[in-house]
Amino acid sequence: MFSYSTRLAGSALLAHVFSTRLLGASVSGYPQQEPSPDLLADMRAKFNAAPLQIQRLGEDVTMLSGPGGSVVVLNGPDGKFVVDTFVAPAWPRLKEALDGLGNAPVQCVIDTHWHFDHTDNNAHLHAAGATVLAHENTTKRMSESHDLPVLYRAANGALAGLHFDPSPAGALPQQTFATSYKLQANGETLALQHVPPAHTDTDIYVHFEKANVIQMGDLFFNWMYPYIDPSTGGKITGTIAAADRILSLADKDTKIVAGHGPLGNKADLTRFREMLVTSRDRIEKLNSAGKPAQEAVAEKPFADLDAIWGKGIINSDQWVQIVYLTL
Ligand SMILES: [Zn+2]
Repeated sequence: MFSYSTRLAGSALLAHVFSTRLLGASVSGYPQQEPSPDLLADMRAKFNAAPLQIQRLGEDVTMLSGPGGSVVVLNGPDGKFVVDTFVAPAWPRLKEALDGLGNAPVQCVIDTHWHFDHTDNNAHLHAAGATVLAHENTTKRMSESHDLPVLYRAANGALAGLHFDPSPAGALPQQTFATSYKLQANGETLALQHVPPAHTDTDIYVHFEKANVIQMGDLFFNWMYPYIDPSTGGKITGTIAAADRILSLADKDTKIVAGHGPLGNKADLTRFREMLVTSRDRIEKLNSAGKPAQEAVAEKPFADLDAIWGKGIINSDQWVQIVYLTL
């Protein structure tokens, strides 16, 4: 942990400005300048506090939502195909829910991107016989250590300078692709498509073509400000481009699964895209006028948007910082 102050300085994000509140909120009881070693465990526990809900999206397609976002399962005689995996402490509930869908083994796990709340149970499912499939950058990012920038903390305590060690070998994907990949199973076609840097540089979406379901992973947070990860290539303009791409694929009946938030549709994604464009345009103006991020935070540039978008994982102050970091 001795390098934390270096990382804090290196992140160059408001840490000195907000350090009193940041440290007061996050690491009371720990020496100043040291993050709680349990911060990541705290986040996993918070995600895991959500109930697991099961929602049928199509004949053989089921959404499990709650402990760390949304998991979509294609089930049938060819086995189960599972997209994303929740946080590690949710494993017993994920396993129970998967077992409850039928006896077929999990053939394949697909990661929408490298983040822990989507990949945490890769190793369990691989140990049970599944092949883990992802974009090649997911393997690269999971194999590295990362320090996510320090953000002014939300009341829910998320997102302060998280550190990630490289994932163990058993958690890494066994199969990867560079651009796109098609799978056929259980009478369904799954089209997997990488997009240019958006939420991270590892993102794919998964289109269940027959069921008319598109799982976007964290390219879409439904009715809340998104997290965009500057430490692994995230870009707000790329996130807007990814929304445009899905909007061009979707029709009014398409079920659009967000990484976080309730099941969405084309109208929901359209509203999300508009919010992203508004946010980017406002921060671009402030940034090109030479206003530092900490002054922009104090100005509350998203005050009119917060009632709708600011009640989720990311609060308004964090969203200002994220947009600055991912312009
Ligand atoms: Zn993510």
